[in-house]
Amino acid sequence: MIVVASSNGRIGIEAAAQILRQGGTAVDAVEAGIRLVEANPEDHTVGYNGYPNILGEVELDASIMNGRTLESGAVGALKGYLHAITVARQVMDKLPHVLLVGDGASRFAAEMGNPPQPEMLLPETRTTWADRLRPDMNDADIAQIASRTDLAHWVELATDPERAKGTVNFIAQDRDGNICTGVSTSGWAWKYPGRLGDSPIIGAGNYADNRYGAAACTGMGEMAIRASTAHSLVFYLKMGLSLAEASERAMTDLCDLGGRFISVMNLIAIDKDGNHAGYSSDNGRTYIYQTPDMAECEELPRIVVPIPPRWG
Ligand code: ASP
Repeated sequence: MIVVASSNGRIGIEAAAQILRQGGTAVDAVEAGIRLVEANPEDHTVGYNGYPNILGEVELDASIMNGRTLESGAVGALKGYLHAITVARQVMDKLPHVLLVGDGASRFAAEMGNPPQPEMLLPETRTTWADRLRPDMNDADIAQIASRTDLAHWVELATDPERAKGTVNFIAQDRDGNICTGVSTSGWAWKYPGRLGDSPIIGAGNYADNRYGAAACTGMGEMAIRASTAHSLVFYLKMGLSLAEASERAMTDLCDLGGRFISVMNLIAIDKDGNHAGYSSDNGRTYIYQTPDMAECEELPRIVVPIPPRWG
C-alpha cells in the first residue's frame, strides 16, 4: 500500500494514507487527497484560488483512472465548482462517457448535487491576474478584456512558462493491489479560454493499469498530450522495461517534439509492485510518498532528464 504525490499534495497525503490504512480503496484515497489540495487557497495551481485564464476566470481540469478496470472520468474547463476531481469521479461512476468540458461539465456537476462555488478567486489573486496584463494594458482595457478579439496575442504575451504552472498528481495502491491515479489543476495561468492541458486527457497526464503501473504528469501539458506521456510510461512497463527505464524513456520521448513551445515536464510513477519514482526536466524538483505505516510523508528528489527548452 502506498500513496505517491507531487510535492504540493502534502496537505492531502495523510488523508489518503489514512483511507488505505482503514482498508479503503485507491480510488477513495486519491479523491480524498486531491480534494484537500483543491480546497487550499495557498496553492495557485489547483482548485480554489487557482490562477485564472486570460479573462480572469478559473477553469479547472481533472481526471481519475481506476487501474483495476481502466475506467476513467475527466472534466475540462469546468467553471463554478471547486472539486473538479469529484466531478471527474462522478463522470467515471455515473456516465457512459469519459470526458465532459465547459458548460456540460458544470451542468453535470450541478445535476450530481455538487455545491456551486461562484467566486473562485481571492481578491489578491484577481489583482495578480490584472497586474500580469500591465503595463501592456490599462485598467479600462482590462475591464473590457472579455470583448477583445485578439486574445491569442495576449495569451502569448502574458504567459510565463516558468512561473505560471502547476498541478497536483496522486497515485495510490490499496491493499488489494488496485492502483488509481488522479490529477487536478487550474491549468496554465492566463491561458486561452477553453484550453485543456494534459490533466484531463487520459494517456497524456494520467494513466493507470494494475497489471503494469501508473504515471501522472505536471508541467507543460501540451507536451504530454503530444507524446502521450503517461500512457507511454505504462506501455514501456508493459513491454518489460523497469520503472527507471520506462520513466526515462517517457521523458526522453519529449526531446523529439519540434515546434516553438517546449518547456518543463515532470512525472511521478509506480510499478505494479509499488516501487515509485519521480522525474523532472528541471533541477531541484521533489515528490512525496507515504505508506500507511509512516506517520508522515517523505520527500524525495526527482531524477533529472534534461529537455532543452525552446520558447517563442
Ligand atoms: N500540466 C498542467 C497543464 O498543462 C500545468 C502544470 O502542471 O504545470 O495544464
